[in-house]
Amino acid sequence: MNCNGLSLVSGGLDSQLAIRVLQRAGAHVEAVTFSSPFFDSAKAEAAAKALGVKLHIVDFLEDVMSLVENPPHGFGGAMNPCIDCHALMIRRAGELMHKLGFDFVSTGEVRGQRPMSQNAQSLLTVEKASGLKGRLVRPLSAKLLEPTIPEIEGKLDREKLLNISGRSRERQIALAAEFGITDYPSPAGGCKLTEDAYGRKLRDLMDHEGVRTSPGGPVDREMVELLKVGRRFRLPDGSGVILGRDAEENALLRRSCAGRPGHCTIEPPDEVAGPTALVPRAMSEADLEIARGIVKAWSRGTSEADRAPYKKFQLV
Ligand code: SF4
Repeated sequence: MNCNGLSLVSGGLDSQLAIRVLQRAGAHVEAVTFSSPFFDSAKAEAAAKALGVKLHIVDFLEDVMSLVENPPHGFGGAMNPCIDCHALMIRRAGELMHKLGFDFVSTGEVRGQRPMSQNAQSLLTVEKASGLKGRLVRPLSAKLLEPTIPEIEGKLDREKLLNISGRSRERQIALAAEFGITDYPSPAGGCKLTEDAYGRKLRDLMDHEGVRTSPGGPVDREMVELLKVGRRFRLPDGSGVILGRDAEENALLRRSCAGRPGHCTIEPPDEVAGPTALVPRAMSEADLEIARGIVKAWSRGTSEADRAPYKKFQLV
């Protein structure tokens, strides 16, 4: 009996194992991953290529930003709305499942692996929030969970699914060897929203410039992308300054300014080697004075003492 699954893949080991286990249980599997300025699809692309499965990449910026602005289940340790983000990814995968005619969505979640996000209750919460009741398969822990519709219908051989639980990685490591999976990144890392410093910069942007092109409008992708660039300052009258850290960043800030009415740059004098500062909106005379001072303080030939008065404006 034909059975088609759409499996969320991050590139980590568990999501790769889930695909191999499903294939062994008789399913045809394609992969889906999500991308945004906070996390990219590079690891998932490498994994899908190594596994030989087709990968669907879904742009997730609007979705994840709406959760950062209003996370129904709150944040993790930084600005990461993980429970809602994960549930929404599964919901989007479910929409794709219906659109493309798959039978189920699957993930590499393991019951009890993460005390907060993968305990039995969280797995149920995610399933409920995703709207995929009965069509969400966790092949690595399936035998510890209620049978799903494709299992009940006999399309997916439940006997070939697994019963892994807990934090030990022993069984996953053994399975990786069995399936010949040798290349997998560590499970942690890769999402900027989990980083404290990045989270503070994002919060500052949301509070001052905003992250949307207009109130209620689309997310300003470029401004969000710029959070990865330069040193950021917030000045007393509320203006923001992004200061390039090298020639590449300086050029990027100049290009960004050229394409955006209302933005301007401050450059050091021609004879001085120094950074470009991007100012994303009009600033007061007092802030402009400070911004010029910042450019000068980070130009060649200045000392730590020259910079010291301006460090208090630096965000992180
Ligand atoms: S780590 Fe980032 S991408 Fe992953 S669920 Fe949390 S917010 Fe979403």
